[in-house]
Amino acid sequence: MGHRCVVLLGDMEGITGVSSWDQVTAGNDEYAYGRRLYTSDISAAVRGCKRAGVERIVAQDGHGAGGTNSFRSLLADELEPGAEYVLGHRWAAYTEAFETGCDAVVLIGAHARAGETSCLSHTISGSVLNIRLNGVPVSESTLLAAVAGTWGVPVALVSGDDVVCADVRSVLGDRVAAAVVKWSTGRFSVRSLCASDGAARIEEAVAECLQRGSFAPPYQPAGPVELRIEMLQPEDRRGYLDGRETTEEGREVVARGATFSEAWRKLWPY
Ligand SMILES: [Zn+2]
Repeated sequence: MGHRCVVLLGDMEGITGVSSWDQVTAGNDEYAYGRRLYTSDISAAVRGCKRAGVERIVAQDGHGAGGTNSFRSLLADELEPGAEYVLGHRWAAYTEAFETGCDAVVLIGAHARAGETSCLSHTISGSVLNIRLNGVPVSESTLLAAVAGTWGVPVALVSGDDVVCADVRSVLGDRVAAAVVKWSTGRFSVRSLCASDGAARIEEAVAECLQRGSFAPPYQPAGPVELRIEMLQPEDRRGYLDGRETTEEGREVVARGATFSEAWRKLWPY
């Protein structure tokens, strides 16, 4: 069964072979190398979509590399042809493809949440200790799944290390396919496939899960929804409070709504 549109959401920390901040942060010698690895995994996912006959493939760069490189680390001259690439758009805020009709989301290069012993684990930024959704700490992948779920779009697959893949399946269900490309042995150490083996695993897993088609249901947490961001320091709250309908409680910024979408928009306007 062919799909009209599949959205790939890319991040760098969970990319095959990546194991240090230098490889994912602009301004470092190793960043150029990290970008090539990132481009390789994303291209592999696009090939998987093409094999499954997807009509429209939209891949978004969702990695904040820093400075003017934020959300624009993918190398356009090395990317797989046949997809549209969204560059420079704020994290989790590109929703056009969901609004106009999209069958599934594929998470490539995902990473575990802050506090997990997992390669480059964090949630949104180093100044965030934790984000809780109705009391439960959640990963960026869970938040992205809930944003997609607002439009009824399910997550079909996640790629990254063993920790994030297990976490996504525990939250969204084991019908979400997983392409594990590395196994974390610490926060800055991994046992990884090489780039070509990682790409082959991603391409195969994406093609297979899209052809199979029976996705987990869209992730739509039951309301009312409370989102709590616990900051490392009280002053870190500032960026999450400006002009938004959030409240501050100690080191936390809190947003509430009848639905996930209503609470999330207060924290993170689309
Ligand atoms: Zn990232």
